Order: sequence, then structure tokens, then C-alpha cells
Amino acid sequence: MAMSIEPAHQRIQILPELLANQIAAGEVIERPASVVKELLENSIDAGATDIRIDIGSDGVGMIRVRDNGHGIHKDDLELALLSHATSKIRQQSDLYHITSLGFRGEALSSIASVAQFQLTSRLQGADQAWQIWKDPFSSANELLPASHPVGTTVEVKNLFYATPARRKFLKSGKTEFLHILEMVRRIALSRFNISIRLLHNDKQQFHCRVDQADPGNLIKSVMGSEFGGNARRLDFVAGDMRLWGWLGTAAMSRSQMDRQYFYFNGRMIRDKHINHAIRMVYSDALLPGRYPIYVLYLEAPPTAADVNVHPTKHEIRFKRARDVHDFVYTTLKQTLDQELYSVADTGGIAGGGDEPESISTFLRSPGGDEIREQPHYYRLLSVMGHAGIDNADMTALGLPLVQLHDRFLVAKRDKDYLLIDIHQARRHLIRSKMSTVSDAAPARDRPLLVPVSMPVAVADADLVEKYCHMLNRYGMTLTRHAPAVIVIRTIPAFMPEVELQPLMRDILAVFKNAQDQQPLHEPLVAVFEAHACDGLPGKLAMSEILQLLHALAASGVDTGATDCPGVWTTLAIDTLARLLATT
Ligand code: ADP
Ligand code: MG
Repeated sequence: MAMSIEPAHQRIQILPELLANQIAAGEVIERPASVVKELLENSIDAGATDIRIDIGSDGVGMIRVRDNGHGIHKDDLELALLSHATSKIRQQSDLYHITSLGFRGEALSSIASVAQFQLTSRLQGADQAWQIWKDPFSSANELLPASHPVGTTVEVKNLFYATPARRKFLKSGKTEFLHILEMVRRIALSRFNISIRLLHNDKQQFHCRVDQADPGNLIKSVMGSEFGGNARRLDFVAGDMRLWGWLGTAAMSRSQMDRQYFYFNGRMIRDKHINHAIRMVYSDALLPGRYPIYVLYLEAPPTAADVNVHPTKHEIRFKRARDVHDFVYTTLKQTLDQELYSVADTGGIAGGGDEPESISTFLRSPGGDEIREQPHYYRLLSVMGHAGIDNADMTALGLPLVQLHDRFLVAKRDKDYLLIDIHQARRHLIRSKMSTVSDAAPARDRPLLVPVSMPVAVADADLVEKYCHMLNRYGMTLTRHAPAVIVIRTIPAFMPEVELQPLMRDILAVFKNAQDQQPLHEPLVAVFEAHACDGLPGKLAMSEILQLLHALAASGVDTGATDCPGVWTTLAIDTLARLLATT
């Protein structure tokens, strides 16, 4: 069947400029708040330090933004309203190190295609201000002299009157104003050197003043003093990245994601890698449906990300997304888990105060009933009653049967049962490893994917500088990054995954107590031993148990001995039976 198609519909035409701009406006100007965003960004790009926003009724009727920026040249006023007209980039290579918020040259032309538009500006050094007026339905745009101080005022009236379909999507005036208010908050948090005022029908609704003395005051005034006073401050540097800001604790969480501000080089962004990292940081601390609050600033060279991937530039593309993710995760995790510390307020080695139970106390404890409560007990019974024991799991210390109390291991060696203290075994391994290394033959190190930087007291950073060479032989590398910042670059390969901040705190305590000429070996061994056990998961996987037993055998202990003080002891079957308390 032949179809008849109007030939005229198939031919290609260039869209009229107005229509092309209206299509572009569809991407960037969604609602009154989008106009406010674009105008504020232009004011910031113009170096303004004082910005006043006036909203009439619901924002559709009138939006006016006035700034004290550098202004626009008289001859450029008309150009500024054309699409693809910008003063911010010149050539393609500029796209890769953008430092301004705008660069697409589309905002003013888009706004002027869907609303009545007036631009008044006085250039720095000019003796006169000029004004241009534009209406989507008239081609006249006359340039008139005006009175205006140095800076620019943009007035937008009757938003979307040229595109009524778009107007239908708008919510109530109150809701649209709340969107504007939120947009102003976001932008206010992005700069610490600009005072911004928002008036709604001449009533002041928001005001943040410049406060160079303490950025915390801006946070308090925009986020509230509860958050400003109690959030954890952080500031970390790794390579050419810096992450700083304020992190809300789990207790400050909310039922909405409405207080999450993340900035990359002064631009608020949403990024799935960063969101994922933050979600992971809070995953244990927050119940489903609760969301953290934060105001965070990531700084990196502009080349670290491509900002030209989204019309409103809310999304950007990081070149090394994995590194950014890991950096954000590690630093926030540390911040959430630990308070900032200083050596002065710590009581010494972690866990030193309450010595954990040992094999002997464990054996002396009445224990039976307690053990029976535990699922391990049933597993032990089933393992012991099991005929076909898997000899692939055999070690010089016998066949591991079961882990008790997250701490001890029962292994069957020939006819004997051994009770092995996992923590003491780990300590033994660390000690023997640390004793065999020397400056000439240091222990293997494990470089951190993202070096971890930590703010410390200046005196502590001095200590690090003085003593850090002592750590090199154990495979740990520290450097001083700034007067009060140290960076951990590698940790000993013999250490399991541990929390770095508490480890560092205890190393600093050793340095602090060091007397010149006194070797630091013993105190450092004690610190590493303690943390190697702190880092242990309560319950080890079979592979980890086997690894531990094989390493123990390889460390030179006499695996045939009935007793290795503190590390293991042979159990008579009736002792084991008592431990397990017959049912
Ligand atoms: P972009 O910000 O992407 O360059 P816009 O359409 O937002 O594009 O603005 C076009 C140009 O108008 C800008 O490049 C800038 O030169 C000028 N301009 C707009 N607003 C201001 C302002 N408030 N102060 C000074 N210049 C401005
Ligand atoms: Mg712009």
C-alpha cells in the first residue's frame, strides 16, 4: 500500500533562532529556581562579592538579580543575549580546565527566549551604565543609557509566557519559592566570600554575610547551629586532591536526602561514585530510610574532571573515578569513626587497659554453659562427630575444628586437642617478623591505594619528622605534608587491615615518650601487636585460620611441643569435655 507523505515535511530546515533557543531553554530552564541558578552563577563568575535577589510573587512574575561584579562592556550587551555567546572560553582546549561556573553561553539567550528580559550593566571603569531590553515576540532590542553602579542587574519577567506548555508544569507559588530558596542555599554554601540576600515580595528570606574569620559561621547560618556546632570537621589531602568540610554524625540523620551538599571546585554536583562512597561510610550506622547530612568540598585540578557532560552541569565525569571514590570513602570513614585526636588525651596503647582473657583464664572459667549457648558448640559437636575429616586442611598444628568465643581455636593434632589463642598467635607472628628485619633488609611494605593524610598537632608532626625513619624498616612510610598534616603512604605488609587513625595515635604516643638514644623497637612491637589483634574480625574464615596456622609453623616455633606458653596448650579430652559441658 502506497503512503502519501507531504514532501514539505521531509525536507530539512534550520530552526528559527527563537525556537532553537526555546529548545535549549527546555534543558536548562526548568523552573524559576533554574533562572536564579544561572543568574547567580553569572554573578559569581563576574567576581561579585555582594548579590541581591528579588523575587516577586511566585517567581514567575519577576526575578531580579543585582551584583557588584565587573560588569559587561556596552558593545557586548547585545551579544550576551545570543546563544553560544560567552566570554569564558575561547577554544576547545579551554574545555579541559574550566574554572568558571558557566561556559556554554546559553543561559541568557535561553531565558530571553521564554521571558521578558532586561539587562543593565556598568563596566568597571566606565562612566555610564547601559541597558538592553528584549521580548521573545519582538525583534527590537534597543540600547539605552541607564543609572547603575559598577556591576550588573538582570530582570526576568513573565517567565514561560512565550512557552505556556512549560508553565503548566510549575507547582504552586509557595513550592516554587522553596525551590528558589534551596537553590540560593546551595550557591551560598559554595562560596565563603560572597554575601547573598534573598527577598520575596520585599521581605528578606535569606541573608548570608561574608565571614572570612570562620567559615563555620556560614555553615551555621545556612545549615543551622545544630549542624554547624556538632558536625565533624574534616580536612584531608591526598596527592592533588583535597576533601574538607562538615560531616553529620549518624545521630543527625534525616528522613530525606535534602541536606546533602557536595561541591567539586566550587560547583555543586551529584556523582554516583561519590554517593556510593558516602552510602558505604554510613551503611552500618544508619537504618534504611535515614540519610546523612553533609557539606563537603572536593578540590582538585580542573583537569581531574570533565564538567561538560550535562546541560545544567550538576553531573560531571571524574577521570579517576575509582581514586575519587576511595579517597572520599577512606577520609569520611575515618572522620565518622574517630574524633580528631591529639596525643595528649590518649591513655596509651589501644586496649592496654583491659587485658583480654588468656588461655589460662579461659580454661579456669566455669564456661561450660556459656559455651553451650554458642552456635560454635553445635558446630564442634557436628565436626567432631564427623567421620570424614578433610585432610587438605591439615597443618603442622593439626586440623582446625572450630573457633570458640571469637578468640580461641580448637585443633586436633594426632590424638591431642590443642587450644590455640588466635590473638597470641597473631602477636607472636608480628613480634617474630619485626625482630628479623633491619635497616638493610626491611620488611615488605604495602602501599596505600590512596595515601591517607591526617591533621595532627604541629608538635606531633615535628615528632613524626624526627622519628619516622625508625618505621621504615618495618615497612611503614610517613611524611609530613604541611605544618600540621602528616601522610601515611605505606603500612607493613605483615599487618592485617587495620584502622589507621588509632594506629597512628599509638605510634605518636611512642614517639612522644621516646627518649633520645633509646631504641623504639619494643614499644613499636607492642603497638603493632595490639593493633594487629584489634583489626581481626571476630570470627575468622577457614582460609584465614589456615593461613594463620601455616604462618605460625613457618615462624620457627616447635610445632610438636605440647605447650607454647600463651599461644597454645594441649587439652586433655576431659578438659575439652568440661569446656563443652556435656548435655
Ligand atoms: P555563560 O555564563 O555560559 O558564559 P551566559 O548566557 O550565562 O553564558 O552569559 C553570557 C555572557 O554574558 C557571559 O559569558 C558573560 O560574559 C556575560 N554576563 C552574564 N551575566 C553577567 C554578569 N552578571 N556580570 C558580568 N557579565 C555577565
Ligand atoms: Mg552563565
